[in-house]
Order: sequence, then C-alpha cells, then structure tokens
Amino acid sequence: MIVQQEVDLQPFNTLAVPATAERLCAVTTLGELQDALALAQAEHLHLHVLGGGSNVVLHPRLKGLVVQMRIQGREILERLPDSVLLRVGAGENWHELVEWCLGQGLYGLENLALIPGTVGAAPVQNIGAYGVEIFRFIERVEGLTLPDGESVCLSAQRCEFAYRDSVFKNRLRNRFIITAVVLRLPLFFTPEISYPALREQLTAEQAGELTARAVFNAVCHVRRTRLPDPQTIPNCGSFFKNPLVSWFLYEHLQNLYPTMPSYDVPAQPGVAPLRKLAAAWLIDQAGWRGKVFGQIKVHDHQALVLTNPNRVGADAVLAAAEAISRDVKERFGVVLEMEPQVFGG
Ligand code: FAD
Ligand code: NAP
Repeated sequence: MIVQQEVDLQPFNTLAVPATAERLCAVTTLGELQDALALAQAEHLHLHVLGGGSNVVLHPRLKGLVVQMRIQGREILERLPDSVLLRVGAGENWHELVEWCLGQGLYGLENLALIPGTVGAAPVQNIGAYGVEIFRFIERVEGLTLPDGESVCLSAQRCEFAYRDSVFKNRLRNRFIITAVVLRLPLFFTPEISYPALREQLTAEQAGELTARAVFNAVCHVRRTRLPDPQTIPNCGSFFKNPLVSWFLYEHLQNLYPTMPSYDVPAQPGVAPLRKLAAAWLIDQAGWRGKVFGQIKVHDHQALVLTNPNRVGADAVLAAAEAISRDVKERFGVVLEMEPQVFGG
C-alpha cells in the first residue's frame, strides 16, 4: 500500500473544487484496506472514503487519510432459474457494471445507466433514476467497520434504504467501509418506463419489441442531452434531493400553484403520508435556472444541478446552495436537503 502526502484532489472530484489530502492511498485489495485502517488507528488519523468523487463537496484541505476505493471483481455466486446472485467489488465502475450485466443477460439496472461513480457508493445513497432504485436488487452489503476493521455483512434490510438515503449516510456514516455489494439480478427483463422523458425517447426511436438494450440506450441518450458532462462542465449531479413534504404543505402549495408537479410516495407503516415535490421545479420557479451566484452556475437545462465552470472552491459552491435553499424556503416554505456529502471544513 502506497501512502502519498499532500495530494491534489481536484482531478478526483467531479465538481473539480480545489482540495488537498494530507495523505491518500488507493486500495485495491481487502488486505490493503486493512493496512490503511491500521495506519489510521495507529496515528489517530481521520479517515475519508472516496469512490469516484461524483457526490461530494470537498473543503480545501482534508486532514487525515483519504482512502480511494479501487477493489475490483465480479463473481457469480449462485444461478437460479430466474435470477443470479452477483458479488461486485466496491471499486468497480458503476456504469461499466450496468453495461456488462446487460451483455450477460442480467436485467434490472438499465434505468441506472450512466450514473457516475463506483459500485461501493451505490448503496450509500441508494442511487436511483427513472423510477428504479438500487435497493430493489441488493441482497447484502459487505464491508469493514471503523475503527476496528471488523468484517461485517449487512442484509438489505439492515441497510435501512430510503429515498436517496441509507444507514451509511446516517448511523454508519464514517463507521463502515463497503468492500463489495451482492446483487440479485433477474434473468427476465421487466421494463420500467413510467418517466415521461424516457417514454418519449423510446417512442421516438423504438420500432418493434421493447428490449433492455433499447431502455439502456434511451436512458443514456436522455441523460447526455439534459445533464452536463462533468469532464467538460464540473458538477456533482443533483445538488438537492426532491423534498418529501406533508400532505398539508402539498395541498397548500397545490392551491397556490396548480401546475406544480408532485408524485406519490409509497406509504410506510407508522409514518404520516408524504408527497414528493420536484426540487428542480421549485428552484426554476424561484428564477434560479441559468443564473450565476458567485462563480457557480445553475445549469440551463436542469435547475437541480450546480455547475462549477471556473473550478472554484467549496465555499463558493456551498454559498450558492445556501442562497438557493434559503430563497426556496422563503417562497414556498419547503426545506431543501443537500444530496452530496461534505468532506472536511
Ligand atoms: P463519492 O462521491 O466518491 O462518495 C459519495 C459518498 O459515498 C461519500 O460520503 C463517500 O464517503 C461514500 N462512499 C463512497 N464509496 C464508499 C465505500 N466503498 N464505502 C463507504 N462509503 C463510501 N445519483 C443518483 O442517485 N442518481 C443519478 O441519476 C445520478 N446522476 C448523476 C449524474 C451526474 C452527472 C453526477 C455528477 C452525479 C450523479 N449522481 C446520481 C450522484 C453520484 O453519481 C452517485 O451518488 C454515485 O453513487 C456516487 O459514487 P462515487 O463513487 O462517485 O461516490
Ligand atoms: P425528470 O425526468 O425531468 O423528472 C423531474 C423530477 O420529477 C425528477 O426529479 C423525478 O424524481 C420526478 N419524476 C418524474 N417522473 C416521475 C414519476 N413518474 N414518478 C415519480 N417521480 C417522477 O428528471 P431528470 O432531472 O431528467 O432526471 C432523470 C432521473 O435521473 C431522475 O430519476 C433523477 O433522480 C435522476 N438523476 C439524479 C441525479 C443525482 O445526482 N441524484 C442527477 C441526474 C439525474 P426522482 O429524481 O425522484 O426520480
């Protein structure tokens, strides 16, 4: 395991904020990860886990040890007549996995194509797109606890998956490093095309039978059209989660703004019914789409995405986010929750 000092992290976060890691090591095996944990424990270093850096905002200097997850591997553990159990290393690239599964005749992940980042980060925020969330396919998550490095396997139920959320963002934040994800993937394709943009794209290009490949292609096409490519316009995807609000607030807003989009939220036992609003709509209505605050630009085609064209620091990004969320709160009474995780500061 090689530990580097004072490492430039700008190339390792898609928002391209300037940041330096006091120490950094890339881990490719479980043994290297255990060595990194031992080092952190021996020298009392705070440990940060970084995957592809596509859902983080980094403060200028990260003290302690940044561990870059690079553990690879795809292994079929079990084949049943209708599904396959697949174990994937946390450092595998997410989109490459989606494409590989499609080639193997393993279905379910098509709607999650082109999401940047690693497999190990997918359970952290229960990645979702176009009506599919990864929790549906997760059988278990393997990892090491912090700081002791004990090997633990969490069933999907213990991951407490919710909308863009999981135990890894809450109770186990900074206390669990995911080393592999075990997925159960169906051998039969069931399309999920309820999102209008996806349906429209499929209608435009589809002739004949609806295949998983066609859905995959349509998702890639729509995403390339609407979302800025972080390689050219630095960003970390949606900056805010869609708010889940009480029915009281929803009905109040619906009366004021009859065209406001809103969506069902599956009922949960013991939880008051909620309604999902589109954060992009609220931000757009407040006049922020295309605007520049400090040097941060709200993306022209998607008001949820904050872009950092001049590659300025976390303070500017967080100031823009704060201005937007304050304005939305004042206008609509809706609290926007940030989606990316903040390191350092
Ligand atoms: P990082 O940004 O490196 O890390 C994110 C968080 O996960 C951090 O807290 C980190 O500590 C933690 N983490 C990472 N790896 C591990 C590990 N092995 N063990 C424990 N903790 C870990 N998200 C969606 O849900 N849906 C989308 O459609 C989507 N589209 C996007 C489009 C663009 C253009 C961009 C830039 C981002 C998008 N995202 C989307 C957000 C992001 O890609 C996902 O959240 C992705 O899963 C983050 O992966 P990463 O490896 O880059 O994680
Ligand atoms: P979109 O299709 O224009 O939809 C706008 C919003 O409405 C989305 O946020 C989506 O919620 C919601 N929505 C649309 N149709 C819905 C339906 N039938 N049922 C429930 N909710 C519906 O969104 P987009 O911005 O182009 O993004 C497409 C998909 O990619 C979305 O699922 C989005 O979450 C995902 N995405 C995520 C990120 C990220 O960083 N997290 C970045 C880019 C895209 P949901 O967001 O809850 O799905």
